[in-house]
Amino acid sequence: MAVIGWIGLGHMGGPMTANLVKAGHSVRGFDLNTDALDAAVAVGVTRTTSIAEAVAGADVVFTMLPKGEHARAVYFGDEGVLAHADTSTLLVDSSTIDIESAQALHDAAAAAGFRFVDAPVSGGITGAEAGTLTFMIGGEADAVTTATAYIQPMAANIIPTGGATTGQAAKICNNLMLFINLAATSEGAVLAERLGLDKRVFWNIASVSSGDSWALRTWYPIAGVVPSAAVNRDFTPTFTAELAHKDMGLAVAAAAATDTPLEIGKHVQQLFQRLIDQGQGGKDCSMIVKLVDGTLARSGTELE
Ligand code: NAD
Repeated sequence: MAVIGWIGLGHMGGPMTANLVKAGHSVRGFDLNTDALDAAVAVGVTRTTSIAEAVAGADVVFTMLPKGEHARAVYFGDEGVLAHADTSTLLVDSSTIDIESAQALHDAAAAAGFRFVDAPVSGGITGAEAGTLTFMIGGEADAVTTATAYIQPMAANIIPTGGATTGQAAKICNNLMLFINLAATSEGAVLAERLGLDKRVFWNIASVSSGDSWALRTWYPIAGVVPSAAVNRDFTPTFTAELAHKDMGLAVAAAAATDTPLEIGKHVQQLFQRLIDQGQGGKDCSMIVKLVDGTLARSGTELE
């Protein structure tokens, strides 16, 4: 069984490492947040107190961090992964980050003699807990093949996407579609209630009709319909509005770089901005339903 270093034990990293432990791997975890580290230790992860300690002697090191700036901070610098890991260690970044940061990690890792892949995931906390995530992996073919073996206990689907940063490209486009679907689901759900439809009857119809989506089946934002939805727990986050805003920003930036109009995408990003403006950035992203039902103010950041 492998020795796995893991940096970033939050909503996703926590349950993902639990599945690696269950598969018999020795996982050495590090997180700046003591609560996150304690929770991981409770499911069998070995506590470390630095990046250097987490990566020492590891066959593979995973990072699962919020944004590109965090990934750069963890990889670069005197205390970082590249300074402390052995070059025989495979490096896997599963955070969702901007393409520029992903390219910077690929370049710096290659220059230092490491094999590196960008391997973001889809499937949310429910997928992380169940070990049914979809991984999309960009990088050199042999590194992708090696990474696949380690990823297996966490995944239902492992899909090579091509060269460096193509995993992030796939993830960014996927999440653009996810959050537009979430916004559409929020509008449809509130309108259905106001037209007198029973919430479960309408959900039963939409989930087997053309209104179906992963957002509808997993994050339906009306209480008492889908157990995994954050609305049932006062929007305690499975995916924060802050991170959703970040992901939409990644899509908007990638679109600007490729001269692609994202009229709906930009609009949905501004809905998440409104949550942030109203102090709700740490709540679940499905809270945009509150902008539809009027509980939260619709004014604020002007929509284009
Ligand atoms: P999170 O904020 O819950 O977890 C990130 C963890 O990284 C935190 O515990 C934080 O303390 C830690 N961290 C930050 N900087 C660090 C550093 N320098 N050293 C050590 N630890 C550090 O975020 P999450 O929801 O687990 O998401 C992680 C990534 O996965 C994000 O890029 C997100 O977009 C992506 N993602 C999330 C979901 C989801 O449903 N939550 C689904 C798919 C992908």
